[in-house]
Amino acid sequence: MLEINNLHVELEDEDKAILKGLSLKVEAGKVHAIMGPNGSGKSTLSYVLSGRDGYEVTQGTATLDGQDLLDLEPEERAAAGLFQAFQYPVEIPGVGNMTFLRTAVNSQRKARGEPEMSSGDFLKLVRAKAKELNIDADMLKRPVNVGFSGGEKKRNEILQMSVLEPRMCILDETDSGLDVDAMKLVADGVNALRSEGRSFLVITHYQRLLDHIKPDVVHILADGRIVKTGGPELAIEVETNGYADILAEVAA
Ligand code: ADP
Ligand code: MG
Ligand code: MG
Repeated sequence: MLEINNLHVELEDEDKAILKGLSLKVEAGKVHAIMGPNGSGKSTLSYVLSGRDGYEVTQGTATLDGQDLLDLEPEERAAAGLFQAFQYPVEIPGVGNMTFLRTAVNSQRKARGEPEMSSGDFLKLVRAKAKELNIDADMLKRPVNVGFSGGEKKRNEILQMSVLEPRMCILDETDSGLDVDAMKLVADGVNALRSEGRSFLVITHYQRLLDHIKPDVVHILADGRIVKTGGPELAIEVETNGYADILAEVAA
């Protein structure tokens, strides 16, 4: 599904290399976790995949179902099935949550050459999804994320994910700053959305999220590259021993 080959990325403004030959393959239906020290390039990877400005790809490729992602506009990537949940969800004053979701759904449908969803069908869809995720109808009426607690913002991202039905979901430290209950809520949301045709890239600094979202594969990202890949036990090794042992092993 997602295939990244020898990806090299620099900051556009400074000649600073951040990703230095990163390769990764996520198969359909799988959950891959990426862990790594602060500053290793985890967020940069998610930004480059979703098409944020300010980064320059100097080498390598990234494809989703064989389609070159790096050539697409962010909205085209979303229409291709990519979803990015942010470390810090943005507040959008003046834009109602429903309006936001409806615009997102319909712009995706438009990009795919499908007709707009009627307001009746859309309302039904969102209400059903919100109910599944135990989301209060009140949250749907408020402006996007404005005044939401940390947990509510994350819950809202899970709702967005559920409504947009992406094939490839990237969660960048979506557990950071959350208490255990809110983190569990994110994990439950992700687990509810796991399916054969949908893959996840879960970026996290800590192992605790992975206690609840059982990953199929764990990668360690250090200094712009995947330096080690393993099963869930790799996350536990990191939690117990930190990154020092793995980094020393890689250096040797
Ligand atoms: P991680 O998410 O693993 O903590 P990041 O991808 O955020 O790492 O950052 C990787 C490195 O690139 C860090 O050294 C960070 O300071 C630097 N970096 C990333 N984006 C920018 C930016 N826009 N301006 C300056 N430095 C940046
Ligand atoms: Mg540059
Ligand atoms: Mg980060």
